[in-house]
Amino acid sequence: MVASTQITPPWTDVWQPLQWLGLASRAHVEGGLDVVHLHVSFWLMLPGAALVAALCGILFGAPTLRLRGDYLAIVTLGFGEIVPIVVRNTPDWTNGPMGLNGVISPQVFGFRFGVTSTPYYYLAAFLVALLVFVSYRLKDSRIGRAWMAIREDEIAAGAMGVNRTRLKLMAFSTPDMFQFPVSVMVLVMIVLGGMGSVPGVVLGALILQLLQSWFLQDLTQWVHALGRLVGSEGLQQVELVQTIELIFGIILVLMMLYRREGLIPASRTTASLSLTEQAAMPSRGGIGVSLSGIRAVQLPAGTPMLEVLGLTKRFGGITAVKDLGFTIDPRTVVGLIGPNGSGKTTFFNLVTGLDTPDSGRVFFMGEDITGLPSHTIVERGIARTFQTLRLFANMTVLENVLVGMHARTRANAVGAVLLPPSVRAEEHGARAWAMEVLAIFGNRLLPRVNHLAGSLSYANRRRLEIARAVAARPRLLLLDEPTAGMNPAETMELAEQIRSLNKMGLTVLLIEHKLNVVNTISDKVAVLDYGEKIAEGRVEEVHRNEDVIRAYLGRTAAAGI
Ligand code: ADP
Ligand code: MG
Repeated sequence: MVASTQITPPWTDVWQPLQWLGLASRAHVEGGLDVVHLHVSFWLMLPGAALVAALCGILFGAPTLRLRGDYLAIVTLGFGEIVPIVVRNTPDWTNGPMGLNGVISPQVFGFRFGVTSTPYYYLAAFLVALLVFVSYRLKDSRIGRAWMAIREDEIAAGAMGVNRTRLKLMAFSTPDMFQFPVSVMVLVMIVLGGMGSVPGVVLGALILQLLQSWFLQDLTQWVHALGRLVGSEGLQQVELVQTIELIFGIILVLMMLYRREGLIPASRTTASLSLTEQAAMPSRGGIGVSLSGIRAVQLPAGTPMLEVLGLTKRFGGITAVKDLGFTIDPRTVVGLIGPNGSGKTTFFNLVTGLDTPDSGRVFFMGEDITGLPSHTIVERGIARTFQTLRLFANMTVLENVLVGMHARTRANAVGAVLLPPSVRAEEHGARAWAMEVLAIFGNRLLPRVNHLAGSLSYANRRRLEIARAVAARPRLLLLDEPTAGMNPAETMELAEQIRSLNKMGLTVLLIEHKLNVVNTISDKVAVLDYGEKIAEGRVEEVHRNEDVIRAYLGRTAAAGI
């Protein structure tokens, strides 16, 4: 608009500096006051327009932040319909369907683009190349991984330190197609090329474009010729270009049936594992090496690592956690046990910011963290795993662990694209640390760093969740039934590894049903029943506690003891 004659404010001396800069001129109007003609250069407006588009993306994106999946798609389509209609119907600003007049054509080194399309083609090609480059750089960066993590599992992403609101708004500010027919074409391109694969999508786009603007027209000619040959009226009338949507449909169905991963799949070429790599070697005695990123924290004497006071959480009629008071001393392993549904997981959610308590306070290293968002709590130093595994299934083992590092790294989108030495060094350090963390589990995860998390065995997924949490360099590690689904040998192996982490300085709170694990590694045990703490103390004391026996075995058994 500021490069056209659409708005013509009356001329005053205020516009003088712009005239000197060559961005505006004074125009005489017959029988009226002089007006301003703005003609800000195309090259200035190109980034300007991108900026405006990004801001609009954020503006439209903000109200849809809570939506997911289909709902988000529908609202996006809705905006896609609304915006062009609004633009067409505000002629004062946009000159309606006619578009803006008086835009001066761009110039490079004295060469005027004029009205032919060739120079614009090269400009567009250049911009496409730039976009592809930016996508590539982002994909393998802290920001790109955070986006993928949100796509995979928003809650887990937040619990690993990703600020969901900020990153989702950032994603909305990146360019996207608005019109519905275009969106369908983009969908076909992506499915044809391969979801998540940049060369794939480029190839998909090329094929579709060639198909539409070249092949189909030729084919139409051939069909017409055939029609003339056999004397068929019908064949001579066929316009194959009109059937492009039908062809899109056929392509989609064929791809879904025969090649779901696309023409150039987002390949993670994973070499097959050797026999020794495949064979799990049960390791005993915990972790041999010590981890560089884990150090004991020095707290003022008497300050607990975690302290909760009067914590209460209700879900409708159920009080899942009831007036819970509880402390964890630094450098200890505390076991949290209790029957199913006694509120253990809810307690974790309250501490890690996934749920807000109805009343009560949570103090971490002496500071009140009640009600903070989950990504801030990770930054403070609490990381967790989930009872129901929440890995980023379509990301690799390494990428999962790198997302765990999100709270400990700084690179932003600009850094990710430009890759200055500081960002390179950070990424390098993050990868080295990720490998160090994966090495906790010996040869269980290391040979599989480039495998998708979703392809791992159940026990390995549990290990990966722990690795991802440890990668966040926590002070306090919360493990929700880490040995669930593991056989006895694997269980003991993991128990010893947890004990090793504790020896390096980590404080651990462990929900665990297997009492032998709790007995071997816990310094202290707390027992929940119906959301209330019914016992707390050293393992032997708790085992003798009658309330505990009753909660676990029922009254009759308790009476018989
Ligand atoms: P545990 O981990 O000890 O097995 P949970 O903390 O998962 O127990 O659950 C405690 C109680 O709270 C259960 O009765 C459960 O049904 C209820 N609960 C947990 N989360 C929710 C929720 N989001 N909505 C409603 N009820 C819930
Ligand atoms: Mg639970």
